[in-house]
Amino acid sequence: MTARIIDGKSVARKLRGEYQGRVRRLVASHGLQPGLAVILVGSNPASRLYVSNKVRACEEVGIRSERIELPGDVAESTLLAEIDRLNADPTVHGVLVQLPLPPHIAMPRVLERISADKDVDGFHLYNVGGLLTGSTVFPPCTPYGVQKLLEHERVEIAGRNVVVVGASNIVGKPTAMMLMQKDATVCICHKLTRDLAIFTLLADILVVAAGVPNLIVPQMVKTGAVVIDVGINRLPDGRIVGDVDFEGVKEKASLISPVPGGVGPMTVTMLLYNTLRSAERSVGVHHGDDAALDGA
Ligand code: NAD
Repeated sequence: MTARIIDGKSVARKLRGEYQGRVRRLVASHGLQPGLAVILVGSNPASRLYVSNKVRACEEVGIRSERIELPGDVAESTLLAEIDRLNADPTVHGVLVQLPLPPHIAMPRVLERISADKDVDGFHLYNVGGLLTGSTVFPPCTPYGVQKLLEHERVEIAGRNVVVVGASNIVGKPTAMMLMQKDATVCICHKLTRDLAIFTLLADILVVAAGVPNLIVPQMVKTGAVVIDVGINRLPDGRIVGDVDFEGVKEKASLISPVPGGVGPMTVTMLLYNTLRSAERSVGVHHGDDAALDGA
C-alpha cells in the first residue's frame, strides 16, 4: 500500500482564501476589520521569524496586525500593562505573546493575563480547561490544524483508535483532548513510555509530536493507518524532517502528512481563523458549519 500524501500547503491556501472572503464580508457588513496584536519580547531570531510570518499571513487575508516589540530585560509589570491595554482595545480581537519568554518573566502569569476571549493561541488556563469539556473559546493552533487536516481529508475520527506520541501542553495533550472530544479512543505516549511500538501499532490515526527524527519506522505502524507528523527537526546537513521515517512509512500508511508541507502551514492558518472568529463573535456573526467542525 502506498499512502496518499496530505498537501498541507494546499489545504492551508484554500482555507486562507475562505477566511479572506469572510474578512471582506465582515468589513462590508459591519465595518469591522479583525485585528491581531503580537507581542515579541527580546530578540530571539527564531521568535522574530515566527512573528514576521504571522504578521505577513495576517496581511494576506486582510487581518490588521499590530507588532509590539519589548526589550529582553523589560519588567514583567510593563508586559502585563501592555496586555491590559490590548485586552481593552476593541479594535484588537486576538492577543498573542510569542514564546519563549526571558527567564525573569513568569509565563503562566502572562498567559493568564490575556483575556480568554482574545486568547487566539489557546494557552489561557480557561481555554486549556475547556478542552476537557469541548467548550474552549479558542483551540490551540497546532492541534486545531491537525484536526482540520483530518476533517479536510474526511478521515473518520469517532470510534477510531488514536495514538498521540508526545505529551506537551502545546501539541500532544491538547491534540489528544480534541480528538477524544470527537469520540476517538485516545492513548498518549511520551518519552518514558515503554515499548512505544505496542501502542503505535494499535493506531488507526497516529499523531506524532515528539521532536525526534525517525522515531516512527514502518514496523511501528499498522497497515492502512493515517499518520500525521507534527515534528519539525533540523538535521546537521540543514534538511528539515519530521519524526516519521516518511519514505518507509508512506508504503504502509493509507494517508500521511509530510514535513515540511503538512501540519506546519496549518498552524498559522488556525491563528488567522481564531482571530477571524473572535472578530465575528464580537458582532454576533456565527457560521453553522464551523460550530459543527469545532464541536462548539
Ligand atoms: P516538547 O519537547 O515540548 O514535547 C515533546 C514530547 O515528546 C514530550 O512529551 C516527550 O515526552 C515526548 N517524547 C520525546 N522523545 C520521545 C520518544 N523517544 N518517544 C516518545 N515520546 C517522546 O515538544 P513540542 O513543543 O510538543 O513539539 C513537538 C514537535 O513538534 C517538535 O519537533 C516541534 O518542533 C514540533 N512542532 C511543530 C509545530 C507545527 O506547527 N508543525 C508546532 C509546534 C511544535
